[in-house]
Amino acid sequence: MTDIEKRICYDIANGKDKVKIFWDMDGTCASMEMHQLPHKLEHGFFLTKRPIHTIIKIMKKFHNLGAQTFILSFCSYEYQRKDKIIWLQQHCNFIDTDNIIIIPRKESTVKYSESKQTLKAEYLKDYISNDDIVYMIDDNESVLVGTKQALQFINIASPIDFIA
Ligand SMILES: [Mg+2]
Repeated sequence: MTDIEKRICYDIANGKDKVKIFWDMDGTCASMEMHQLPHKLEHGFFLTKRPIHTIIKIMKKFHNLGAQTFILSFCSYEYQRKDKIIWLQQHCNFIDTDNIIIIPRKESTVKYSESKQTLKAEYLKDYISNDDIVYMIDDNESVLVGTKQALQFINIASPIDFIA
């Protein structure tokens, strides 16, 4: 077990339902597929992503131990949000649909934020309360740092921290 995995297991054992874990998708539990970037706007693009089983196994482990599992992911447009939900139903079906937060960054419905770095914080804060133990796992370091600056009490980690 890695240090971060031990720490989260400890928090779950002591805080049970107070532990909330927010997982990113692309580059965290779904493959990045950088070579396919030109096709990113095609319908169904996100459905072709490969699940990262090592991470999904860990997500499921924490979930089964009693942590509340959330998805906190960006996309550009609303149709991509739907594709991501289908992908999650296929590969991470243990996650409650109410806990899936997919932010369509280029739609007019998106919340205001000064930058992309702090946008996830604007959404995350609606799902947590003061006594929660909150973890955010994301492969984008500037998003992690931006979220942490906005919500200092949260714990941040990169998906590679879970790979021994
Ligand atoms: Mg990512």
